[in-house]
Amino acid sequence: MKFESFSGEAKKVKFRGGYNILLKGKPEGAVKVMPEPKVLYLPLRSERFTFSEVLVKDGDRVNGGDALARDPDNHDVPLLTPRAGTVRLKALENHIVLEDVAHRDEHADIAEEEMSHIAQEMGAGGIKRYKLLSLGAWQFFYDAFTGALPDPLGTPQAIIISTLSLEPFVTRGDVLLHKRLLNFTRGLEHLQSLLEYQPIYLAMPDVSSEFANLVRNQIRGYAWAKMLEVPLTYPYDNFAILARRLELRRDKGPIWGVRTEGVLAVDRALTMTKPCTVRIVSVGGMGVNGPAHLKVVPGYPIERIREKYVFEPAARVINGGVLTGRAFTAEDVGIDAECRGITVLPELREREFLGFIRPGWSRSSYSDCFLSSMRKRFAERLTTGMRGEERPCVACNFCEEVCPAGIMPYLVHKYLYADLIEEAEQARVDLCVECGLCSYVCPSKIDVRKQLIEAKVLIEKEKEEIRQEQLRQEEARKQAEEKTE
Ligand code: SF4
Ligand code: SF4
Repeated sequence: MKFESFSGEAKKVKFRGGYNILLKGKPEGAVKVMPEPKVLYLPLRSERFTFSEVLVKDGDRVNGGDALARDPDNHDVPLLTPRAGTVRLKALENHIVLEDVAHRDEHADIAEEEMSHIAQEMGAGGIKRYKLLSLGAWQFFYDAFTGALPDPLGTPQAIIISTLSLEPFVTRGDVLLHKRLLNFTRGLEHLQSLLEYQPIYLAMPDVSSEFANLVRNQIRGYAWAKMLEVPLTYPYDNFAILARRLELRRDKGPIWGVRTEGVLAVDRALTMTKPCTVRIVSVGGMGVNGPAHLKVVPGYPIERIREKYVFEPAARVINGGVLTGRAFTAEDVGIDAECRGITVLPELREREFLGFIRPGWSRSSYSDCFLSSMRKRFAERLTTGMRGEERPCVACNFCEEVCPAGIMPYLVHKYLYADLIEEAEQARVDLCVECGLCSYVCPSKIDVRKQLIEAKVLIEKEKEEIRQEQLRQEEARKQAEEKTE
């Protein structure tokens, strides 16, 4: 990777691991508009958020842009309704259902008296941050290292903006930017206005394309923006990988990661004071009839998309990309607020007796996606049964070869299998960026990514318990000292 500021200075940055995934079912660049829905099913959960604080009552009539609920554990990030309608709270578990949905109608859900109150306390910067949060743009921000929602009142040491989407088949940055380059550059300017002197890094593909040249020309003259030219290899667009390669240290303060859709949402919130409730969602994969990008709103019925695009009777429908997404269950009825794509894989449901020793490419599997070996570049026909069933690790080393974090996934897998948590921690599980490449290339179909994520959670929990125990001991020691005095 090469990065340069527009003042001319250039520096080479190296990546390790990674793998070019070429699969059939890539969505086309054009955006199709789905028919307006009569009923919306807004999930109260998404990948990062749980909207547990419901702000509306059953039977309430709401307007587009109103907050229906918020997540108290994530800086009160709101769940906005994209359309006017009547609220039904008990119609479907874990969802807010909106009936009698009106066609487009939205207003800015910002109370003037609150704005003046914020202006007095925090000034113009405070108003901008308040707008970003209440108009739904803040939910597009990520902490580069943890993926969590950053504190909207915090100051980052840097912002990394990625125009790349390298995981198949999430929404592509160039599709989002089509005819919206001006909105994008305005969004960048708004982001810059939230900072004092901290840099903004803009990750772009290292190829010379019409799109890349347009962006380059558009931001020429922005001395505060440093361009990163990134090879088109998954997962080099990952914020944690980019931050590490830029030698930005976690202990020096938060780093915000924002993708193209986030920059456009910032522009919408701060230029137009409008809620960010429309999403461009890709629908791709081997089980899809005419892979495409769709314009939908959160709460849009998944069944309507399924009817139109999924031709396989037995298909696994995944919320997100093939490597990091989660399969939808029967409980997921509407598109959630964070959905970036829908991937559909033909599913082999029947498990065959001794299937793992039978020859052939297509065998039953319980995991979302595996490739099993790195092969020459050609578009793979990916199904859930590709390359057979789970077997023991054969020490092929493929997972280490592709791991962009420089760890040895097979070693961690072995430690975890033997319950050796301390050894797993020493093998630097914490560096895992959860890209899923280790699971994808594993010929034994071991879901190494899942094991590493579970190990990280376990280690973090144990560390927290130790911290709490130390605090308790410290408190007890202080109390004992006070008594003796
Ligand atoms: S160990 Fe983590 S970072 Fe490395 S390939 Fe697996 S999921 Fe990706
Ligand atoms: S975990 Fe899978 S990819 Fe890694 S060494 Fe073992 S068999 Fe190979």
